[in-house]
Amino acid sequence: MDNCVFCKITSKQSPAEILMESDSVVVFKDIYPSAPVHYLVVSKKHIPSIKEVLHEDEVLMGHLIHMARDAAEKLGLNGYKLVFNVGKEGGQIVDHIHLHLLGGWAKNKANTVNV
Ligand code: AMP
Ligand code: ZN
Repeated sequence: MDNCVFCKITSKQSPAEILMESDSVVVFKDIYPSAPVHYLVVSKKHIPSIKEVLHEDEVLMGHLIHMARDAAEKLGLNGYKLVFNVGKEGGQIVDHIHLHLLGGWAKNKANTVNV
């Protein structure tokens, strides 16, 4: 989609620090990290938010979670948070569906974080 920052990154028209990629998902570093380790797990398909997910996107959504898990393993994270912000009131700024992967805090400590 034109003028969508995450469409541009997933189609390689804009740069990003890419960690992993599959046919349908790209995992890249968040430029303004909210945690010591902060990556975004982003579908190549432009879906504005969780609100617009269709029945036909269910496999893609499952794959998004698997990619987040694999990225966390690759990064050596034992514990982490996966967060979807949904809509403006939910803190969503970029209207292209993405899963935040957050971690890297001190070991054996419980954490709260706002993304
Ligand atoms: P959200 O508030 O859930 O929409 O999160 C959007 C996230 O995208 C924020 O954490 C931003 O720091 C991040 N972000 C925005 N633009 C870029 C970019 N060009 N490359 C990497 N991360 C970005
Ligand atoms: Zn997009």
